[in-house]
Amino acid sequence: MTAEAIQNKLFINGEFVDARSGETFATTNPATEEKITDVASAGADDVDAAVRAARAQMEPGSDWQKMKPRDRAKILWRIADMLSARAADIGRIETIDNGKPIFESQYVDTPAAAECLYYFAGWSGKVTGETIPIADNAFTYTLREPVGVVGAITPWNFPLMLAVWKIAPALACGNTVVIKPASNTSLSLLKFAEYAKECGLPAGVLNVIPGRGSVVGNALVDHPGVDAIAFTGSAEVGRGIMARAAKTLKKVSLELGGKSPNIVFADADLEAAARGALNAIFYGKGEVCAAGSRLLVEESAHDELMAKVTERANKMVAADPLHPKTRLGALVSKEQMETVLSYIEAGKSDGAKLVAGGERTDIGTGKGYFVKPTIFDDVEVDHRIAREEIFGPVLATIRFKDADDAIAKGNATVYGLAAAVWTRDISKAHRIARSIKAGTVWINSYNLYDPALPFGGFKESGFGRDQGRDALEKYTQTKSVWVNL
Ligand code: NAD
Repeated sequence: MTAEAIQNKLFINGEFVDARSGETFATTNPATEEKITDVASAGADDVDAAVRAARAQMEPGSDWQKMKPRDRAKILWRIADMLSARAADIGRIETIDNGKPIFESQYVDTPAAAECLYYFAGWSGKVTGETIPIADNAFTYTLREPVGVVGAITPWNFPLMLAVWKIAPALACGNTVVIKPASNTSLSLLKFAEYAKECGLPAGVLNVIPGRGSVVGNALVDHPGVDAIAFTGSAEVGRGIMARAAKTLKKVSLELGGKSPNIVFADADLEAAARGALNAIFYGKGEVCAAGSRLLVEESAHDELMAKVTERANKMVAADPLHPKTRLGALVSKEQMETVLSYIEAGKSDGAKLVAGGERTDIGTGKGYFVKPTIFDDVEVDHRIAREEIFGPVLATIRFKDADDAIAKGNATVYGLAAAVWTRDISKAHRIARSIKAGTVWINSYNLYDPALPFGGFKESGFGRDQGRDALEKYTQTKSVWVNL
């Protein structure tokens, strides 16, 4: 793949264009610290142009509104096929922009994005209303209509996949989308827009406008032509968006952060649980909203599990993200690395015991924002590293006495995105699954996703669901029609 293959302009009304101001921002490869390219930086006037283009395709008689749902599905399916065929190209773009191993971007994230498109293509034309009998002299029914122009704002950890989690259901339901990727990682979504155009998506149906959160995000949230905001990102920014969207009473959905408990009972397969604990926190360099960042271990299994977990963590070595065997890449930015390192200091000063990692590392080049897989033991629930989302490869281990203690400690967080339980006792597993306040609970596994299964948060992890039938709720509204007979 050549550098020319990279798209770095705004995608508005089916064309790649410069920002009206001519402004750009640099995007950097976090593994080499080298600039990849300058990306067009949208302003409020570009947002307005994108929203107008998206609105035009919501007008009666537009190409998009005239299109049969099944033909919309065919376009989504074609884009999925193209993503699958070009996973190596777009995966490489994702890896150099984000720092994640090519193993993840090419073989996990891109196929997951394609599967999401296939899944929601299947819903096109199957989102129906119903006839509701109410009286002899009335014929009453409901229509499920698109909400309109969806303003989507997405984070940098799964730049392509999480964007597709919003684009696929929104388009399947007949909406149009204006989306702002995180400025650290705009390139894969711009490439996606190129594929979508090539696959025949009409101009204006999807618009991609990279730029600063405060500028583009605010303009999108304030714009009267945007009907709904679908946000994935931090709780802090989510709170601001919700408050701001109140002014225009937009429909808002928020997929926010987490501090998910990974609960291991002594009767579990400890070998599998150790592997699972590592996958839970070190996959995606720990920059995963659902990361199992709190390992809760039953007292009697503590020593055995910790020996297994630390041994494996010490063997995980950061390496060139473009190498197919690499499993630990670079953190997304210098700023993120510094945040993670400051949490490691907080763990030490709060009195937790550092048993693996705990420092920056490099891959022999002297460059790159790499941090060793880090494990703290003897963490208490009130320590900062047990309460706050670190969003990096740092695991906080907490002991528990019995199931009640595990539930209490598992729920001792403002977040509620995900959790896992490891045990051979099937009743205990289901009891814990019911008692943990989280949107997803895995049993004897971690980090498994499917487009058919809803994903989203309880508590301060947000509301609304991506994926599954539930996602259709965000992108449709019900109209009741009453015919007097
Ligand atoms: P972030 O909140 O800093 O940024 C998310 C997006 O919001 C970016 O596109 C950013 O540019 C934009 N933004 C920033 N300021 C804004 C503003 N004032 N108005 C509007 N938009 C603004 O999050 P991040 O650092 O990119 O991502 C990490 C966070 O995302 C973590 O908290 C993580 O848990 C969360 N996350 C949640 C999920 C989920 O599904 N629940 C998935 C992935 C990430």
